[in-house]
Amino acid sequence: MANIKHPCIPFQEDHPMRQVNFRMRARRLALIDRAALNAWNCNPVKRSVNLAPQSTCQLVSCRVNKCTLDARDFGSWQGAKTPCGRLHTRRSNAAKSLKDPQMMCGYLRDRTLGESGMRKVALAGLLAALAGKVQAHDLMSLDDVMAAFGWDFKATEIEAQKVADGLHVFFGIGGNIAVSIGGDGVLIVDDQFPQMMPKIKAKIAELGGGNIDFAVNTHWHFDHAEGNLALGPEGSWLVAQANSRAMMAKANVINLVAMRYAQQAYPQEAWPAITFNDAMQFHFNDEQVDLLHFGPAHTTGDTAVFFRGSNAVHLGDVFNNAGYPFIDADNGGTLDGMIRFCAAVLAEIDENATVIPGHGPVTDRQALADYIDMLQTVRGRIRSLMDAGADLEAALAAKPTAEFDEAYGDPANFINRAFTSLGKQEE
Ligand SMILES: [Zn+2]
Ligand SMILES: [Zn+2]
Repeated sequence: MANIKHPCIPFQEDHPMRQVNFRMRARRLALIDRAALNAWNCNPVKRSVNLAPQSTCQLVSCRVNKCTLDARDFGSWQGAKTPCGRLHTRRSNAAKSLKDPQMMCGYLRDRTLGESGMRKVALAGLLAALAGKVQAHDLMSLDDVMAAFGWDFKATEIEAQKVADGLHVFFGIGGNIAVSIGGDGVLIVDDQFPQMMPKIKAKIAELGGGNIDFAVNTHWHFDHAEGNLALGPEGSWLVAQANSRAMMAKANVINLVAMRYAQQAYPQEAWPAITFNDAMQFHFNDEQVDLLHFGPAHTTGDTAVFFRGSNAVHLGDVFNNAGYPFIDADNGGTLDGMIRFCAAVLAEIDENATVIPGHGPVTDRQALADYIDMLQTVRGRIRSLMDAGADLEAALAAKPTAEFDEAYGDPANFINRAFTSLGKQEE
C-alpha cells in the first residue's frame, strides 16, 4: 500500500493556521471514508500531514507519501480523480463539506485569534462542516470523536493565558480551564481529559501551584469533565451543580446532530462529591468565587463561576466563542435557557470583566452581550417560522442566522438544536 497516495486538505504556507495540528484534517478524511483509510493501512492519528510551501490555499503535501492534491478536486471528486481511486464512497459528503475548498482558511482568516483560539474555531468549523454528514444513528465513542476531530493528546500542549494575578486560562483539548493558584491552593474550572492531566499539572507547577485541591465542572459533558476520571481517584474535591453529578452517574447520548456521542457513566470516584442547586461560594486565594446556576441552558446542570476579586467569569458551554453554540436539547438544554443564563451572567458583571467561554478565546462583556443579541434575534426568527407552521427543513431554508454566519460559521447544527428545543417547550 506504500505507493497509494494520501489526499489532503487546502492550506497556505504563510497562513496563521499553519501551526495548528494538521492531523485534524486527515481525520476529516477518516470520516469521509474510514474503511478506505483502513484499506490504506493508514492511521491518520499517527501520521502528521506536512504543509506544502505552495502559496495558495489549494495545495498541501503529505509527509507520508510526499503527494499533493489540488483540493479543488474534492468538490467534484470521482473515484478516478482521487490519488488512490478509493475515497469515493461518500463523495457527496466530501463534496458538500468541501464545496468551498477555502472554507477553512477563509473562515479563520477573518478572526484575530491566538493560535489556541484558532484551534477552537477550527474545531467548531469542523463540527459545522460535519453537519449532517454522518448518519444520525452513528453512535460515537471517545475514540471516534478523537478521530473525527483529530484530537491528539500527545501532540497537544497546554497553553496558558493570565487573566489576573493568580488566575489563568488553560487551552488544550476540550473546554477552556480556569485556574486559580494562590495561598490556599489550586482550584480549577473544568478539567478536559485524563490524558491531558499530566500536562495540566505541569503547567500549574510552572505557575507556582501544587496539587489540584478543587475541580469545578461547569457541566457534565466529556470535554469538560472527563478529567474527573483522573482527579477523583487522586483526591481532588470535585464540585458541580447537582444535575451534572446525576448525569455523570449514568450513561447519556449527546446528540450533536452531525453525530451522536455515547458518554459512558463515570465511576463513582469521578462524580462530584460536592454539589449545589442554585448557588455556592468559595472563599479561596483571597477572593470570593461564586458558583451560580441559572436553570437549564446548554444542559440542565450548567454553572457560571465568578471570580469576584479577579473580575472574571467562566460560563462553560453556555457561551461558545468559537462559532455557534451547541444546545444539548435531547438532554434538557434549551435556547431560551441559554439566553436567560447569559443575560443573568451579564447582569452580574461590569464592562471591565474578563469573560471566559467554554470554547474559543477569552473575551469581554461586550462579546457576551453581542452573543446574547445574536441568540435573541435568531430565536425570534425561528419562533416566527414555527408559528407560521415551518418544519425544521423550512426553518433551515429560511436562513434565520444569515447575517451571523460569516462570524459564526455553518449554522445547521445550531438551528437544528434551537428548533428542537423550542419545539420541546411546546410539548
Ligand atoms: Zn464543550
Ligand atoms: Zn458542553
